[in-house]
Amino acid sequence: MSKNSSNIMALAPAAPNKRETVCIFGTGDFGRALGHKLIQSGYPVVFGSRSSHPSSLVPKDAEVLSHVEAAQKAAIIIIAIQRQHYSFLTSLADVLRGKVLVDISNNLKINQYPESNAEYLAQLVPGARVVKAFNTVSAWALQSGTLDASRQVFVCGDDAEAKKMVMDIVRALGLTPLDKGSLLAAQEIENYPLQLFPMWKFPIFLSLGLTVFFFIYCVVLNVIYPYVYEKKDFSFFIAISIPNQVCPVLALTLLGLVYLPGVLAAIIQLCRGTKYRRFPDWLDKWMLCRKQLGLVALAFACVHVLYTLVIPIRSFVRWRIGNQIISQVLSSNKTQPLDTSKAWISDSYLALGILGFFFFVLLGITSLPSVSNSVNWREFRFVQSKLGYLTLVLCTAHTLVYGGKWFLVPSSYKWYLPPIYMLSLIVPCAVLVVKFVLIFPCLDNPLTQIRQGWERNPRYSQ
Ligand code: NAP
Repeated sequence: MSKNSSNIMALAPAAPNKRETVCIFGTGDFGRALGHKLIQSGYPVVFGSRSSHPSSLVPKDAEVLSHVEAAQKAAIIIIAIQRQHYSFLTSLADVLRGKVLVDISNNLKINQYPESNAEYLAQLVPGARVVKAFNTVSAWALQSGTLDASRQVFVCGDDAEAKKMVMDIVRALGLTPLDKGSLLAAQEIENYPLQLFPMWKFPIFLSLGLTVFFFIYCVVLNVIYPYVYEKKDFSFFIAISIPNQVCPVLALTLLGLVYLPGVLAAIIQLCRGTKYRRFPDWLDKWMLCRKQLGLVALAFACVHVLYTLVIPIRSFVRWRIGNQIISQVLSSNKTQPLDTSKAWISDSYLALGILGFFFFVLLGITSLPSVSNSVNWREFRFVQSKLGYLTLVLCTAHTLVYGGKWFLVPSSYKWYLPPIYMLSLIVPCAVLVVKFVLIFPCLDNPLTQIRQGWERNPRYSQ
């Protein structure tokens, strides 16, 4: 076989694609980290700096030149400089004409300036093609390689070709570009890194408010009431007993609040006879943070489990058991027969609690992006809806079996206040009852039709 045979040619390694030089203005933290990553990905990098003696941290394989010299060497220039220092770029307008300028800057406050930094850059250098990108990636993540949580790079710009060039670089770095449209989107992109847990605000403030309310409620019933009427000091309940009442109550109430907007939305759609009208804003926002509400509820359930596990080693509990045994010995000197109905109740609420907690954890796990990304939409809905309602039923039953016996006992209504378990059942029971009613075919069928696009009073004639 000849050496020039086509088989041999096919096995020969392909020549690596020559990457275009990328220029970075600024040898600060971000410029260096991005430069390092670009060099690793095969891009020749040239830095434009004020200093001809750059820091030793600048990647060895990169050239450091003046801004003008560096800009002349590349078609793409990444501006790794804070916005307040952009003004010097006007003096480079000639050399930057036609170049792709990548604005990566962030601000300290949301909507800090009337226009986005990228639009400001475009005003300063009108001849350049400005693209916004990379601002949601941190220098630390770039350098340490821990980009798992932030692989997405939002890109926007008015010049499609310039945007494509930047998106190619993003992909070459192993990141995922997400086209957000024109430069008008830059302000929104610049606001992303400044948002502090936007979806968590409502769940956290709500749970904080409810925690304070339920805690005070329990202190009144369990500490102040016995002190006023019996002069007994149960203030130590504040450490374990009361938190162990507040946590399950919050977990159940918040879990109910996860499913309440769903049934409210169903009622609204049934009343309106269409799904094509927007829900009120508060309902939209509530629906958007259901996952966060559920995770906060799960956190309270976990703390409840921990508190419950320490019950047997509590001094008060050991004292009470010892006291009961000695009182029994002194009064009758024999053990009482086993009350099987009590044993049934106790075992039942424990079993319901264990099962409820198991499904609760399962729900929490399936809401993790890595898990939810690996199931299809139907599987995800099955877990979040069917298993979610099963969890709600089990946890509600757990509370009912545990506290139900006190509901009809007048002495448990101290100062006419219902026991806390009763309060915790209001939301979940309301949700379960409405959900049960909505299952009836006379409501379920029209609701299914509405969700498939049917309208009672169509706005557009066919
Ligand atoms: P930095 O460490 O302060 O570096 C900024 C660089 O800008 C300096 O090293 C300097 O480079 C240059 N510079 C400073 N003053 C200048 C002036 N008056 N005129 C011209 N150049 C000047 O900042 P950084 O953390 O690298 O951030 C750079 C940009 O990236 C910022 O807009 C920031 O919002 C954005 N960003 C940063 C991160 C991050 O994790 N750090 C993440 C996303 C976005 P020379 O000395 O070489 O000229």
